[in-house]
Amino acid sequence: MSETIFDKILSGEIPCYKVFEDEHVFAFLDIGPLSVGHTLVIPKERKAFLHELSDESAAAIGRVLPRIARAVMKASGAVDYNILQNNGARAHQVVMHVHFHIIPKIAKAGLGIGWNPGQLTSEAATGILERMHSALEEG
Ligand code: AMP
Repeated sequence: MSETIFDKILSGEIPCYKVFEDEHVFAFLDIGPLSVGHTLVIPKERKAFLHELSDESAAAIGRVLPRIARAVMKASGAVDYNILQNNGARAHQVVMHVHFHIIPKIAKAGLGIGWNPGQLTSEAATGILERMHSALEEG
């Protein structure tokens, strides 16, 4: 996987507004915020997609994400927020280094979502579940 702008932030080559850092995780303010306090939480491990992360990185993010979210909400005064995590260009990922957006929802500021639900049929559920369970067994 090639270097992204987030590697340059991690190495200190380009500046950022740092929110948090530990051995495996780094967090900083998004340069194009959707609302005040919009924060990005990234693993130090260089991977493009969430499913490529090592268990160690994934666990480290899971451990600190709620704590960082608490700080973002306390500082911004927001009560509601979205966690957004895009994987792949068709899913709106622009920077190909895993990142979690923490986006406070304050009045109209924050994440807008287009949501067009279908309806789950038992045939569709059975088919996809069978394939998912096999995939889970394979690891
Ligand atoms: P995504 O569409 O999920 O890949 O989002 C990438 C995010 O990275 C966008 O919200 C950008 O505003 C943000 N971003 C890109 N470059 C920087 C930077 N140098 N510092 C902070 N945030 C950045």
